[in-house]
Amino acid sequence: MDKTSLTTSTPVSAPFIPDHAPFTPAQRAWLNGFLAAIFSAPRAGAAAPAPPPAATKVKVCVLFGSESGNCEALAKRLAKVAQGKGYDAAAKGLDKIKLHDLAKEKYALFVASTFGDGEPPENAKEFHAALLGGGAPRLENLSFSICALGDTNYEKFCQCGKDFDAGLHALGAKRIFERADCNVDFEETFQQWQEGVFSVLDAMAKSEGVAPASANGASPKLEPEQAPEAAATLAYSRKNPFLATLLTNRKLTSGDSAKETRHYEISLEGSGLTYEAGDALGVFPTNCPALVEDVLRALNCDGEEAVPAPDGSEAPLRIALTRHYEINKAPPPLLQTIAERSADKTLRDMLDPSAKDALKHYLWGREVVDLLVDFASAKLSAVEFVGLLKSLQPRLYSISSSLKAFPNQVHLTVAAVRYESFGRKRKGVCSTFLADRANGAVPVFIQTSHSFRTPRDGGTPMIMVGPGTGVAPFRAFLHDRRATGAKGVNWLFFGEQRAATDFFYRDEFDAMLADGHLTKLSTAFSRDQAEKVYVQHRMLEHAADLWKWLQDGAHFYVCGDATRMAKDVDAALHSVIETAGGLSRDDAEAYVQKLKTDKRYQRDVY
Ligand code: NAP
Repeated sequence: MDKTSLTTSTPVSAPFIPDHAPFTPAQRAWLNGFLAAIFSAPRAGAAAPAPPPAATKVKVCVLFGSESGNCEALAKRLAKVAQGKGYDAAAKGLDKIKLHDLAKEKYALFVASTFGDGEPPENAKEFHAALLGGGAPRLENLSFSICALGDTNYEKFCQCGKDFDAGLHALGAKRIFERADCNVDFEETFQQWQEGVFSVLDAMAKSEGVAPASANGASPKLEPEQAPEAAATLAYSRKNPFLATLLTNRKLTSGDSAKETRHYEISLEGSGLTYEAGDALGVFPTNCPALVEDVLRALNCDGEEAVPAPDGSEAPLRIALTRHYEINKAPPPLLQTIAERSADKTLRDMLDPSAKDALKHYLWGREVVDLLVDFASAKLSAVEFVGLLKSLQPRLYSISSSLKAFPNQVHLTVAAVRYESFGRKRKGVCSTFLADRANGAVPVFIQTSHSFRTPRDGGTPMIMVGPGTGVAPFRAFLHDRRATGAKGVNWLFFGEQRAATDFFYRDEFDAMLADGHLTKLSTAFSRDQAEKVYVQHRMLEHAADLWKWLQDGAHFYVCGDATRMAKDVDAALHSVIETAGGLSRDDAEAYVQKLKTDKRYQRDVY
């Protein structure tokens, strides 16, 4: 497109490629930015536009919906990159902006995760409801783009980001760059989205006569370790895990317990890594050698075949399947290819959208190896096979220690997942890596939480509800408060199946009760009597005390299972406020919302 053909003698506004034009959304977004820049360029003979007053900067709202802190961290990084490029940018939680304020903005970039069964994160729930719930203001003035974080293991992958994208577009906002849907290894996809967004934004900003600081428009490529707020973190990270030494591997459950929950102590000596109570530890596992051999046998491979590793290097198939690829849950591309190549049409029939339930039923309790055996007529080369797998992801575990109490150590509380299905022993990848195979070397990194923290004021009361391995961060909180000499009162609700075999850290908690550091310990052993007794039942039994603690300013924490426990505990909290506080249902809801707004109700659940 010749630039002169575009200059005209009369001032015109930049044309905008309409949605129905024959371009992909990403092409359309880039072209709109390009045209905006062209039409803003000085026309032949025209006086050069006066340089914008120094104070003029294009404002970009960077908004995040975050549960574990990843999106908040990425949003802050994005805002810092924008500031470095000359924009007026700041990261803000979606609980801090209303739609009528957003309607006055010109540019907004969203970084949002999806939680539970396709739900928005806690701090984005209100915004999500307002955006999609009808009665929202038009947003014709707004140009936006979305970076969605999710996990492809969940059916409603990146659902919250998709809802925001569709909702904003439906209200007239202009999508200037295609939404990015990031899986758990989000770094690369996020970086590509960030570069694409700024390539369009820079062109559009030029159209306003305000060139970003970096004239060539290229957004500075920040390695995670170089990200400003990450500057404090050291060389070791998710992209460069520290090979730590496993010091302790101790069973917490005993006797004939139905579970195998273990306590791990890992050395951080020499890593320079630090963490706060409330942070998580990322662990890179390896797959079970016996399962790798079964997969090789089913493939009719000897394991020496050269295949690509996810980073593009080459490795023998056995090593690649042990260290680099997920071989438990069968990913959709593998299902599709086996269905296409198998003489048995059963899988192809189950992949029909109308047969979703049949597919779900078949896949329940089955893994990659079962597919290879059940549909042996589908032949796959070693290279084809690994090309259909997902790269092996690190698993995140709530840290159960305080660095102040255990210098140079990080502790975990992990239930080893072991079960049998279709005549085959099954193992949780990382929980059994730690239990059985991590002899000596464990690749780890720290995943910082941006919100799950003990109160700033050590005198503030804490109420902690942590059934099962959900107790992990609260052991950390209690040790942390003891190490800092914090004087606030502490109440722990702990639940497991049976007191005799599943009372994790009983000795430690009893000692803390004895010296008064732990003010109250309420336990709920669900299978020690005929009826189920859960932590929420104990909450209701102690409603009056709980209400008094809340009125005294207590922070309320929940950690553990998201699908049922967290919801039931939330319901119990509302009930305590209604019954013991004498509030109406609506007023109790408002009270809980205020707790959340004041960061006094924090959850770390999945
Ligand atoms: P669990 O399965 O949660 O069981 C612990 C106790 O909770 C058992 O006594 C169980 O009773 C009881 N329970 C079951 N349903 C409940 C409900 N609706 N409300 C209250 N209590 C209930 O323990 P786990 O095996 O350690 O699993 C913990 C879960 O939390 C896992 O899904 C884990 O992934 C998650 N987790 C999350 C985090 C985090 O987000 N940071 C940290 C640790 C663990 P019965 O079994 O007798 O029904």
